[in-house]
Amino acid sequence: MDLTLLQRTLRERGEPAYRVGQVWDWAAGGADGYDAMSNLPGALREELAAAVPFSTLTVETQRESKDGTVKTLFKTADGHPVEAVLMRYRDGRRSLCLSSQSGCPLTCTFCATGQMAFGRNLTASEILDQALHFRRMTPVDHAVFMGMGEPMLNFDEVLAAARKLPDVGITHRRTTISTVGWLPGLKRFVDEIDVPIRLALSLHAPDDTLRSKIMPVNEKYPLRDILAECRRHVDRTNRRVYIEYVMLAGVNDAPEQATALGKLLGRDHFKVNLIPYNPTGIYDGSSRDRIAAFKLALDRTRVPSTVRLTRGRDIEAACGQLASAPKVRTRAAAPA
Ligand code: SAH
Repeated sequence: MDLTLLQRTLRERGEPAYRVGQVWDWAAGGADGYDAMSNLPGALREELAAAVPFSTLTVETQRESKDGTVKTLFKTADGHPVEAVLMRYRDGRRSLCLSSQSGCPLTCTFCATGQMAFGRNLTASEILDQALHFRRMTPVDHAVFMGMGEPMLNFDEVLAAARKLPDVGITHRRTTISTVGWLPGLKRFVDEIDVPIRLALSLHAPDDTLRSKIMPVNEKYPLRDILAECRRHVDRTNRRVYIEYVMLAGVNDAPEQATALGKLLGRDHFKVNLIPYNPTGIYDGSSRDRIAAFKLALDRTRVPSTVRLTRGRDIEAACGQLASAPKVRTRAAAPA
């Protein structure tokens, strides 16, 4: 729901200020529409339904994986594709993977989103509407900004959305913002963040040469600078930064590279997430044995790590697989 438009509409109607909060409480609690808002006068509910679309996004397609993961492709009002994912874990956790942009202007070689056309930054309301969509299906308790886009390129809107997630059931401690290390945004995060939101850094390589090869953004913001910012964050907040490291066969998965990674990171500031690669084209994922050997070498450096569980691969909902299929884009563009 476009919260700015909601505010303006209510103000123009001369409604008391608390109405905004009433509407938001219903929406954040998973209401299906204005009809459900029983503490609003009927006439107002009708007017709002006509003036303020209940969601800024419309659902184009939705798929459910065998493991319960749901991937939804939305469209913004001006036609940009946006994907988001709900992950349901056996222990009851319900985690959302949210997009911050339609597409992504960065061109990480292993990520499908980088191969599609970049659309634009999403507004805070468009980000929240992804969460509300899933909230209408089930209570939710975790969120990661690991969908389409680079959150630090859209810092203000991402942060505005994240600030409201507790109303939807997701506390700041259960919210993670992931970045390639886009330095201007990362610096702002470290300087300005006043809530315990988690930070994750997509690293994927233990040295600049390799990282620049697979992540062109590294040419602009090299390892030394982004790791220094992350350490500054840990020193300020006492909260470790997660390192994401996607395992690419024969590229970054040698045990010696694990040792180098351990040396680069040190024991005090980081926790590493080793991510099995989800095929998107040009690389092969490391085998299980290879990942285990890498982890063993990393364990020897005493840097803590875990291997991430892969979800939703059968519906292209897994990490790095979010990209609107050309077919869908063509259909959306064609006259009905
Ligand atoms: N742009 C931000 C937010 C997106 S996060 C960032 O990169 O951090 C998406 C995560 O999935 C990143 O850690 C990314 O490196 C990882 N990823 C990308 N492609 C992947 C793939 N094919 N398989 C597994 N993980 C992938």
